[in-house]
Amino acid sequence: MHLAPQTILVVMMVVFSSTLVMAAGLVLALRRSEAGRLWASGHVIASGAGLVVAASAGADSLPLIALGAGAYVIGRLAIYRGVRVYYGLPEYAATLRGIGLLVLALLLLMTGLSNGRQLISAVAYSVLAVASLSTIVTMLRGVRGRTSIGGPLVLASHLVLLASQVVTLTYVATPKGIPGVPVFVQASGSVWPLAPLIAVLLGLFGFSLMAMEQIIARNESGARLDALTGLLNRGALDMTAVGMVARWQRDGEALSCLVIDVDHFKLVNDTHGHHAGDNVLREIATALDNSRRASDIAARYGGEEFCILCPHTDEHQATALANRILRKVRAIELPGNGGYASVSIGVAQLRGAPTSREGLWRNLFADADRALYTAKQRGRDQYVLGSSMLPVVAEDAASEAPAQADLDCATPA
Ligand code: GH3
Ligand code: MG
Ligand code: MG
Repeated sequence: MHLAPQTILVVMMVVFSSTLVMAAGLVLALRRSEAGRLWASGHVIASGAGLVVAASAGADSLPLIALGAGAYVIGRLAIYRGVRVYYGLPEYAATLRGIGLLVLALLLLMTGLSNGRQLISAVAYSVLAVASLSTIVTMLRGVRGRTSIGGPLVLASHLVLLASQVVTLTYVATPKGIPGVPVFVQASGSVWPLAPLIAVLLGLFGFSLMAMEQIIARNESGARLDALTGLLNRGALDMTAVGMVARWQRDGEALSCLVIDVDHFKLVNDTHGHHAGDNVLREIATALDNSRRASDIAARYGGEEFCILCPHTDEHQATALANRILRKVRAIELPGNGGYASVSIGVAQLRGAPTSREGLWRNLFADADRALYTAKQRGRDQYVLGSSMLPVVAEDAASEAPAQADLDCATPA
């Protein structure tokens, strides 16, 4: 394919005008993603700079070329910063901003030199190639653990950009040059002169997808978590529970449930205020979360009620967890010398009755809730087994109570 340089200049104008408008819109659309904001604003700067370069090539103005090239470098470095933020790496904001401004100043100074045109291209394309390579390496290293549709597009776009930058650099190394034609157009000759422009478009699209995917993932996890405690909320618990019941139906492994209610919690609120009550709830949630095994699911079921689901665990094995929770919660100080917190726990195991998964889950929860009610009636700060409805008090709670062994050999806190 052979395109006249003037045609490529027109295409360049069209591409960068489009990406400028799109990126300006994306600055608003992606404002909830820090990486997305950097990608969008980086593309705004780079697109504006691309327009300046296209205009200056036509006008053959070296200071304008230097300005456009410097601004383009600043834009691409902002995009690279966004990639670092996305993968949770240090942003190096000041360093990368400093490098961008330094390159811009250097390029402007070079306009006074006799071989300024060649030097400007050499410096600008070197920095751009390093930025592209760094972006590729960062993405390849960070790709583990994240699956994204946008990521491969961005990677492909940067590979094309890097190839075009390297080709341009080798071209710049030999002292030639046609005034009025952007150097990357001269370097690519009649082969793929539009490839880097298409790569810019592809990159912007890929970055937008990555940012949107991140925003959607955050929204989804936000909708699943309880805002106060960070545990799963009731909706997420119900969904997970039905899945666990399905597994129970498949493999027949025991599934147990603990329903946990804070004792006399209204008193904490009434005496010390709702805010102090919230702090106690957070501490209790942390104690529950730290007591459970990795495969257990902890959720805040309602106000001051929690639920833990334990797959591959029978009712008696679940008492070990109940014991750990009772002990950990007893160590939580209530505000204003109000003593220590305590909880009551109902423990139940899923037992087969031919009904729907949702029905089985409802039955399991109801069994544990009944046991919890009995624990409250029998004095609180204890757990009761759904099957026996016999009160069982943790070993160190009351010396006269019958001892209950930790059946899964877990170390009590
Ligand atoms: P019991 O031992 O019988 O469970 O007594 P209780 O006082 O804990 O039970 P009750 O059901 O009478 O009171 C529960 C209290 O929990 C009342 C409600 O204001 C409080 N509560 C529910 N959700 C929240 C919350 O998100 N934050 C705070 N601070 N309090 C809450
Ligand atoms: Mg309650
Ligand atoms: Mg309560």
